[in-house]
Amino acid sequence: MVGDAKLLQSARRLMHDRMTDDAMFPFNNSYARLPEHFFARLPPTPVSEPSLIRLNATLALELGLDPERLASPEGIEVLAGNRVPRSAEPLAMAYAGFQFGSWVPQLGDGRAILLGELIDREGVRRDVQLKGSGRTPFSRGGDGRAAVGPVLREYIISEAMAALGIPTTRSLAAVATGERIRREIDLPGAVLTRVAQSHIRVGTFQFFAGRRDETGVRVLAEHAIARHFPEARESNNPILALLGAAIERQAELVARWQLVGFIHGVMNTDNMSIAGETIDYGPCAFMDNYHPDTVYSSIDHRGRYAYGNQPSIAQWNLAGLANALLPAIADDRNRAVELATEMIQSFPTRFAHYYGPGLHRKLGLMEARDGDVELAQDLLKIMAENAADFTLTFRRLGDLVDSSVRNDDWVTGLFDDPAAFGRWAVGWRNRLGSEPRPPAERQRDMRSVNPAFIPRNHRVEEAIEAAVERSDLEPFERLIEVLASPYEDQPSHEPYAEPPRPDQIVRETFCGT
Ligand code: AMP
Ligand code: MG
Repeated sequence: MVGDAKLLQSARRLMHDRMTDDAMFPFNNSYARLPEHFFARLPPTPVSEPSLIRLNATLALELGLDPERLASPEGIEVLAGNRVPRSAEPLAMAYAGFQFGSWVPQLGDGRAILLGELIDREGVRRDVQLKGSGRTPFSRGGDGRAAVGPVLREYIISEAMAALGIPTTRSLAAVATGERIRREIDLPGAVLTRVAQSHIRVGTFQFFAGRRDETGVRVLAEHAIARHFPEARESNNPILALLGAAIERQAELVARWQLVGFIHGVMNTDNMSIAGETIDYGPCAFMDNYHPDTVYSSIDHRGRYAYGNQPSIAQWNLAGLANALLPAIADDRNRAVELATEMIQSFPTRFAHYYGPGLHRKLGLMEARDGDVELAQDLLKIMAENAADFTLTFRRLGDLVDSSVRNDDWVTGLFDDPAAFGRWAVGWRNRLGSEPRPPAERQRDMRSVNPAFIPRNHRVEEAIEAAVERSDLEPFERLIEVLASPYEDQPSHEPYAEPPRPDQIVRETFCGT
């Protein structure tokens, strides 16, 4: 009798759990339907003592999820990888990649598990992935875990990117595991729930191409088209159209990075999303002082991924994508190469199409005229020569269009040689005069593209340090709040707009893997 009661109780519990899970995460999966050699099926590895660091309630709602449920003990168990919802089909994706230019035939999700896909409120299919969720067949020597520091870093910066309006993977939650992980020193562990339009990378295509698995390449391409580029189906060469569409999105993405001073840091082909979202927040950083050679990543010794190299690296990576797609582009190899080459060569024009007008708007201009490119380049040149803060220079430039608001001192102070800005501003004002607009309107327009608040490295470090060293989440929470409205003036948060003092400057960032 006692046994029966227990059995009944556990059956009820199971029923209850399943219903709860279905309502909590109504997964609707497509990647899990692809051939089995595309991934390894396995659940996340449970952790000892999960506790919620932060839940992104706004994003949860966007995904059609109930934030309260997610923050409940059952929700936290899912976000920690201790409990797998019934509709989840957990798997680690296979991929390859060129890392710092060197071919690595197999990388894959070594510390991440794709739980499943959700259709969001707008009808867009989104991956839900746990990062830091334990070892997988792709872990090689790694422990499959992530530390609290890098998890918070990704949370802060990815959400800041989203608020800036730049395509990016998102952060749904950060959960502490209650476990220590071994790095150079022992660190507290965490799991990040990452949301992406997909986790298909350039390196995913390269994985199959590298194995001469042409069918794999085709199946993946079909999947990517269905998911991200349905219009490519209409083309008489859908695979070539897929390549073109991926190039277009990447050109826009990198232009957007350049326009806010974002340096990705590890633009390996395995860290480039086919959907054109910023992905893999490792040693990334926003520049303080403008200089095209700026590098923060501790592992980028030769500056391969320096700020100024990002467009050409993107093109190089896309050439890798083109190469992987070749057999699917045309049966005749020469013809395929010809078509793909032409596509790849369109990158600089496509990039300029986004970057040029973007820079224009940052300067307060609407139309493109002869000499504008030089005008913008001259400003960047004197900024580089005078260690001017990238973000503040542009933000404050907007305040100069109305002379009753500020005089030039507001900007010249950002330059080592204040006169350098004054000389440049003469030409700029002439040019503004040739395109008359009400100053207030122009200022408003400039503010909408020149953010006041970016995740400055010293603020990010400060937030992480407080969380890790003192379990104080206040600076992390506040930073997230400030960065949620990057284009607004936030008088009470003015210090967050300031560049670091000399003693606060962060010169190096780490991927912390
Ligand atoms: P990333 O530098 O994050 O782009 O990662 C490059 C590769 O290393 C990917 O295949 C990751 O899955 C893998 N990797 C990074 N960190 C770990 C870790 N702690 N354990 C296992 N694999 C990892
Ligand atoms: Mg990666």
